[in-house]
Amino acid sequence: MKAAKVVNGMNRVNRMKIAVVGGDGIGKEVVPAALQVLDVLSLDIEKVPVEVGYGKWKRTGRAITEDDFDLFRSCDCIFFGAITTPPDPDYKSVLVQIRREFDLYANIRPVKGMGGGKNINFTIVRENTEGMYSGVEQVFPDAVHSTRVITRKGSERIAEYACLLASGDRGGSGGWGGDRRKHLKRLTIVHKANILQSCRLFREVCIGVADRRGIPWEDMLVDATAHRLVLDPERFELIVTTNLFGDILSDMAAALIGGLGLCASANIGENYALFEPVHGSAPDIAGKGLANPIAAILSLAMMLKWCGRAEESDAVHDAVSRVTAAGIVTPDFGGRCSTMEVAEAVAAAIEER
Ligand code: ATP
Repeated sequence: MKAAKVVNGMNRVNRMKIAVVGGDGIGKEVVPAALQVLDVLSLDIEKVPVEVGYGKWKRTGRAITEDDFDLFRSCDCIFFGAITTPPDPDYKSVLVQIRREFDLYANIRPVKGMGGGKNINFTIVRENTEGMYSGVEQVFPDAVHSTRVITRKGSERIAEYACLLASGDRGGSGGWGGDRRKHLKRLTIVHKANILQSCRLFREVCIGVADRRGIPWEDMLVDATAHRLVLDPERFELIVTTNLFGDILSDMAAALIGGLGLCASANIGENYALFEPVHGSAPDIAGKGLANPIAAILSLAMMLKWCGRAEESDAVHDAVSRVTAAGIVTPDFGGRCSTMEVAEAVAAAIEER
């Protein structure tokens, strides 16, 4: 049974019960590595393994079943690795199905540089249920229409969530991703309202919510945002945008801080959440022990924060900072360590503390 109750805008879960999905490819490697870090925190946590994904689809013909959804419903949240989505018209994305089922409308992606170079520290809040991924499509013999659905309700709730983050009310003191800054953050509303009517609605609603909540804001065209993210990423604090724009900008932002192996994410709904690294199943490096586990470990830290375990979440962030600063990193980040060596070092750094 779920044991969540709301404390200071966060769900304080006394005895946590989490569904654990390794999934496909490197998901099966980074999830056990992250769980090793979770284990040293000695929290009262029940882990429920759930097999879903492409591997299951190939084996059984179903990527996710109603029994899997029942298991998810019996847990407080999901800790998720990665799933391969083949370009097969008969295969429906598992992640999209889970996001729909639990109405996980806010996708939160912190982007924080790790040492050296620029002081990059911002969060992308991406609307997760509509936009170009609304699933409304018409296929004709010589054309396909994909409908971009933007609603007032969908825009309003993502803007409200972004404003809560801007004021430091969600994600603990100052925000997700180990961010302990306490000042009001400037919200950048990203759109293409000069061309798209749907973006005009999104922009108008976001500005209305920000004004009502007293959050400083600016608005920016998505193409200009991409340009400025590359040239001057330090100027950004918090970005709110629509589904596809957020998807693309967050992968670009990952490249600014050293790659997909470092970027965590949370998919948040009213009463449920899923935490996952931004990267996919990376079949090119799967099974070789090369996968960077940091994104999964930081996703775990986001989960702890959502469950009201801010202290443990901060301990994980601190340990990751110390381990990466010591050069204990995988090849994608310029090191020679394996997935498990990095995870063991993070676990040891937590124990030392
Ligand atoms: P999928 O089809 O599941 O999206 P993909 O390979 O197309 O898989 P990603 O998994 O996001 O997409 O990987 C993109 C690139 O980034 C790959 O070359 C992969 O090796 C690299 N990569 C992704 N995640 C990691 C990681 N955790 N550690 C090291 N390299 C990674």
